[in-house]
Amino acid sequence: MKDRDPRISELEQYAKTDVDAYKKGDKPTLATHKELGLLFGYSPSHTGILLHQAGIRKERQGARFLLEKLPFPPSQELAWTVGYLSAIGGTAAGREKPTQLKITAKAACPKIPARNKFEQMAKTLLGTTPTITRHAHSDGRTSEVLFVNNKNTVPRLGNLSEKDFVNTFNERYKWIKQDALYGWRFVEGRFEASANCESRNNHEYGIRFSVNDTEFLNFLVDHLKSLGILKPRPYFIHNHQAPHAIGIFNDRDLKLLAINISSTDEGKENFLANLRKIQLTDRQKTPPQKDCKHRWFIDEPNGPTSDAMCKNCGGEKSFRNSEGSVFNYSLTNK
Ligand SMILES: [Zn+2]
Repeated sequence: MKDRDPRISELEQYAKTDVDAYKKGDKPTLATHKELGLLFGYSPSHTGILLHQAGIRKERQGARFLLEKLPFPPSQELAWTVGYLSAIGGTAAGREKPTQLKITAKAACPKIPARNKFEQMAKTLLGTTPTITRHAHSDGRTSEVLFVNNKNTVPRLGNLSEKDFVNTFNERYKWIKQDALYGWRFVEGRFEASANCESRNNHEYGIRFSVNDTEFLNFLVDHLKSLGILKPRPYFIHNHQAPHAIGIFNDRDLKLLAINISSTDEGKENFLANLRKIQLTDRQKTPPQKDCKHRWFIDEPNGPTSDAMCKNCGGEKSFRNSEGSVFNYSLTNK
């Protein structure tokens, strides 16, 4: 009997490892016939035949079909992306084109650094680099549409438009609520995509998240509260039932938010840096919670003591500076 080309076994082994990694969610896409062919010296169609003969082709198809229904595994990147997409009406798995993520118009593309970050995330998670299409309008304006096309991975995100968000969240993203690190990354993504930073007289700060859907508004208010924000304030359009925004205006809440998130946008990051420097009055401070594993964010020294706020519970405490200096090195102020 003629010896079998040893490359076939190598190809089979490689394709098996590939499909196993894909099934575990370690890889966003399966290697294509073309990619496999190039590695082992076969044409794409011959590669297909060899995989079929080894029974791997069927396994690959099955894995693809099953995985489309499976949510992505939890990660901070995914939590950020879900927050980002919730803000810009990103419709994944919509009715018309369930395989395409389309992000339109000015809302789509907040600021270039945030968009770059999203593109990077999309590539890692979805295995596809987004493309930007420009539309010229008859009046000379142009708008941009950001597309992410991947029929295997985009459906796994679920529909993240505000209107469908809460359903999708309950189905796929409950883990975001189970760990404050994930919870804050979600808020950070939302903040990057759309949030107004306001200040008067270089103090009297405020942050407003614009919101269009009532169910989503309630969701976001609850979420912010679960992260220790005491007074997220809902706004409704004057004389209408329609929601408009959630505002955070008290110094203690703003500081807690700012020590937990950062921005790729220079203007927003400078704004957050100012919030992190807010010195709270005794009346504004809240005591540390007993059952919290505190993570202290320490202020600039102020006389013999330094104030510190816990990133988890928002509680305040003073450290003597001899003590504080040790803490400054061992704790990361972000
Ligand atoms: Zn704490």
